[in-house]
Amino acid sequence: MINELRQQARQLDNLDPLSGFRERFYMPEKTIYVDGNSLGLLSKDAEQSLLRVLDEWKTMGIKGWLEAERPWFYFAEQIGDMATPLVGAAPGELIFSGTTTVNIHSLISTFYQPTRSRDKILADELNFPSDIYALQGQLKQKDKNPADKLILAASKDGRTLDEELIVSLMTDDVSLVYLPSVIYGSGQLLDMEFLTREAHKRGIPIGFDCSHSAGAVPHDFHRWGVDFATFCSYKYLNGGPGCTAFLYIHRNHFNKEPLMAGWFGYVKEKQFDMSLAFEPARHAGGWQISSPGILGASTMEGSLKIINEAGIEAIRTKSLKLTAFFVELVQTVLHETGHGFSISTPKEDHRRGGHIALTHPEALRINEALKAKGFVPDFRAPDTIRIAPVALYNTYEEVWQVANALLEIMIQKEYLKFEKQRKAIS
Ligand SMILES: *Cc1c(COP(=O)(O)O)cnc(C)c1O
Repeated sequence: MINELRQQARQLDNLDPLSGFRERFYMPEKTIYVDGNSLGLLSKDAEQSLLRVLDEWKTMGIKGWLEAERPWFYFAEQIGDMATPLVGAAPGELIFSGTTTVNIHSLISTFYQPTRSRDKILADELNFPSDIYALQGQLKQKDKNPADKLILAASKDGRTLDEELIVSLMTDDVSLVYLPSVIYGSGQLLDMEFLTREAHKRGIPIGFDCSHSAGAVPHDFHRWGVDFATFCSYKYLNGGPGCTAFLYIHRNHFNKEPLMAGWFGYVKEKQFDMSLAFEPARHAGGWQISSPGILGASTMEGSLKIINEAGIEAIRTKSLKLTAFFVELVQTVLHETGHGFSISTPKEDHRRGGHIALTHPEALRINEALKAKGFVPDFRAPDTIRIAPVALYNTYEEVWQVANALLEIMIQKEYLKFEKQRKAIS
């Protein structure tokens, strides 16, 4: 059975319209890398952008702000424009700025304006911890006790969320809804269009953290009417560790006030007037705070070039086929043979992001055994191994290899050789 599926994998690779993109990436040697949902890989295009910017600094010094090939002064706006097809942003709605958690603080400080009757924030208990810390901090900034005012939609199975249940919590006292697009654990994709419509029916603004969907899943923020969003660029966007993030503001809110104000949010033509009266740019750029870290940000230019060339729809199509293939392998080869794996990611295409969450009581040690065989997956406590086959650089055959290695690990009981301890970054 497993060998027949290898043939199928090779056929899928032969027919893959995106197969040519793999050679534009640096694939770590002797490694099968399926961790692009934690840290995407470096492309040659991104490297070129970085080297060019480094050279501009070397040869131009301060003149690079206006005279570089892509002037640093406009870098954040221009890269924001380049990324609009990924999220369906209208002009001016997307800026390449800040970092995910800082952007959450900045956005919530603008959008959380409690009144006497509406002062709660609705989020969920499966969100990334940093997002929740930011919400708690923002509540405290406005003298609200998070224990009373932060409502976390509960998960029935500890892995997925029920959108209907979230909607039932959008009550009259909720001031703001803030949710993930894809849950980082299980890989469930929430129905952002539905949630936005339901929030707006009740007069509640809604924002999303799309760190786990940007670059893997298409979005239509403007048309859906999403009020605000942010997402990091080092997962499926391959910007590099800690790369600058994106911040989205719907055009309807361009006149709102950026409260974590800084001079890079100033109207560009007047920024260097150095006036002490803050006049924010009336677009997403108004939410910039500091001088952009151009070196760290530079990679995004090359990376977006590749993504736009491939097209987000084609990326999504292949990503769904890769993950569906992995699910099929697990179901036929690993589950029915009684090795105790199950999958917590929803099986329906429209409810699945870019990775598959495999659960097993021995997940920690199985993950170690996979690493010892040259794979790079990741482990999330207590029982999940995440496998992210990335459309731009992974192959169907690699997906097969992951399943085949899992089968070997179980048959040979290789995982028993490893300790039940966790390292700092897994
Ligand atoms: C990756 C990720 C983050 C990371 O936040 P940083 O501020 O970039 O460290 C935050 N939230 C979610 C949902 C993520 O997936």
